[in-house]
Amino acid sequence: MSRTTPSRFDALAAVKPSPARNGGGAPGAPKPKPIEQMFGENVFNLAEMRARLPKAAFKALMTTIEDGEPLDSGIAEAVAIAMRDWAIEKGATHYTHWFQPLTGATAEKHDSFIAPTGDGRAITQFNASELVQGEPDASSFPSGGLRATFEARGYTAWDPTSPAFILEGPGGAYLAIPTAFASWTGEALDQKTPLLRSIQALDEQTRRALKLFGVDAQRVQPTCGAEQEFFLVDEEFTYRRPDLINSGRTLFGAKPPRGQEMDDHYFGSIPERVLDCMNEVERELYRLGVPVTTRHNEVAPGQYEMAPIFEDANTAADHQQLTMNTLRNVARRYGLSCLLHEKPFAGVNGSGKHLNWSFASEHGNLLEPGETPHENVQFLFFCSAVLRAVERHQDLLRASIAHAGNDHRLGANEAPPSIISVFLGDQLTDVYEQIENAGEATESRQSGILGLGVDTLPQLPRHAGDRNRTSPFAFTGNKFEFRALGSSQSVSFPATVLNTIVAESVDEMTSAVEDAMEAGKDRQEAIRAVLADEVKSFKRVIFNGDGYSDEWVAEAEERGLLNLRSTMDALPHLVSEKNAETFGTYGVLTKRELESRHEIFVEQYFYTINIEGETAADMAETMLLPAAIRYLSELLQTAERAEDVGIEVKGVTKTIERVSALVDELREATDELVEQNAELGGDGVDEKAEHMRADIIPAMARVRSAADRLEKIVPDDLWPIPTYRDMLHVK
Ligand code: ADP
Ligand code: MG
Repeated sequence: MSRTTPSRFDALAAVKPSPARNGGGAPGAPKPKPIEQMFGENVFNLAEMRARLPKAAFKALMTTIEDGEPLDSGIAEAVAIAMRDWAIEKGATHYTHWFQPLTGATAEKHDSFIAPTGDGRAITQFNASELVQGEPDASSFPSGGLRATFEARGYTAWDPTSPAFILEGPGGAYLAIPTAFASWTGEALDQKTPLLRSIQALDEQTRRALKLFGVDAQRVQPTCGAEQEFFLVDEEFTYRRPDLINSGRTLFGAKPPRGQEMDDHYFGSIPERVLDCMNEVERELYRLGVPVTTRHNEVAPGQYEMAPIFEDANTAADHQQLTMNTLRNVARRYGLSCLLHEKPFAGVNGSGKHLNWSFASEHGNLLEPGETPHENVQFLFFCSAVLRAVERHQDLLRASIAHAGNDHRLGANEAPPSIISVFLGDQLTDVYEQIENAGEATESRQSGILGLGVDTLPQLPRHAGDRNRTSPFAFTGNKFEFRALGSSQSVSFPATVLNTIVAESVDEMTSAVEDAMEAGKDRQEAIRAVLADEVKSFKRVIFNGDGYSDEWVAEAEERGLLNLRSTMDALPHLVSEKNAETFGTYGVLTKRELESRHEIFVEQYFYTINIEGETAADMAETMLLPAAIRYLSELLQTAERAEDVGIEVKGVTKTIERVSALVDELREATDELVEQNAELGGDGVDEKAEHMRADIIPAMARVRSAADRLEKIVPDDLWPIPTYRDMLHVK
């Protein structure tokens, strides 16, 4: 019989490194510029603005950027002219209002700087109104019922607190202006607007609280640094996998003989092609002013991580989006696909994102405990506010990271559990226990020196607490690390939630102290009483043990902590009365805005799994079943010939039985999946999403189970898609 091209083999052949897929980082290639010259060269940053703007305009703009004062609209014209001149010098031909719709990605619509002069020539033009406001056709961005398509208007509004930048492609460059995006009724349709509102709320409440400690602060800002995990896989493989193309994850694939058991990849030396690629990613990010700093191999084969130095939350969120975009784009120049999905491969570790979060005034980080935290009442106050916020809003934090991709990680034995708890470390836990038991803390356990037992090695100071990789929310010295985010998600909403709920706790604790003072207590006493009171209610959220253990699940239940296992369990909490009130009180999201987000998140869950279900059915029907049947046909021909010549071929008969049984199973499972795909589950988006969870996911699992067992017995040259073995280990 005729055999089709075994596409797996030409993929493997194509993967062989060739000069063309080596994007210029090869030894001997021209050396890039020194970092200091490169850093920020594509950013319209403060230095550039100072040099180019009239003095008065620059000063006015600075009060907005640095002190959070309202924007003086009179300066927009001067900024527009300076920005245009700068961008054109940089080779930009177009500008775009760059925004972050609720898809979690970024969006842009380009306009050129050209204005025809009527005599057949043109000049470049860009004025204040073009800088300040844009009107993209908003009808196809998700709005969760906030904007019917017949009233499709949406506006983008310049965010002067995040600098404009130049994006370069092979074909040219354009100016990107960070903007907020709202409906024409003023409702936020994006990630940035609520983030900015939450930053403002945290600023106001924290400055108020700082007065209790005699500190007069100009500005308080949340700070964020996001660690990004991702996979790099040769794109020859990904092109041959409809599941990776459509869903960003493999829907099929048997466990390879070599997974991550060897642990030899983690922190191992970075393969050369990958290092080249990362170097270029870093250069591009430096030029965009993104301070990426660390890079290393992650636990799974083919998995890596990159992290920046932290920045103010708004800039950090913009920069995180740029990081994801740059990773994806640059990877392709090296013949690699960057997979940002939370779980591209079953059976090996998935990818997360760690959101490191703190808040600081111009006087310093408010979560810096110092050497003797028990004496640092201001630190204890703000740290308590975070703990209190997490305890009260476990549900909201859980909902802020809930999406179909993250369901593969949370609660599985590799990622934080879906129970939100805080790792605080021994020292601080002890301080809080003292406060709880005695009303105040009188000592901080010290950790001393790490002696390595070799005279020539340096003596290292030991950190007061060990790390805990199993906690979803860990105190790591002078910041909290929210470790349960999905690798593909924007950090904006989780950061918005954190800012808002901490603002609320700071507000309520400050009021409690003020009330106690009014009732006659002195300030120190009042603060101490509030802390002692708060510890009692938030202590149940503190857990320093192994978050992956079954005992923790049982204990958390005893403590009354929530365990919202999946997206569909978590999302309803987003719109609870408690949470709507919190968002409303601090002016972060109105009830309608919150409800629209809920609807969009549910809809995204539905679409994601719907696409996976359809793709799995297609692949099973048109790729995997045919491969198995071809094999069966070969076996049957062999058996027939054997019978003709009168030889007994027991092995062949046995194989036929096995393959045939699996073909039956795959056939039935595929029929079932096709049938479920045709169902909708109901008219409403909630019912459709529920159908995905209850029916499509299990149906896909059955198809996969049969297909993965077939992969193990169908001849290698008949199996039509690259295997885990190929994708994870060929670098
Ligand atoms: P770790 O080894 O604890 O994960 P690092 O010190 O390398 O820590 O920090 C991890 C991330 O946390 C980095 O992106 C870093 O910039 C960020 N980070 C450090 N301090 C703060 C802070 N005060 N606020 C927010 N993020 C911070
Ligand atoms: Mg970390």
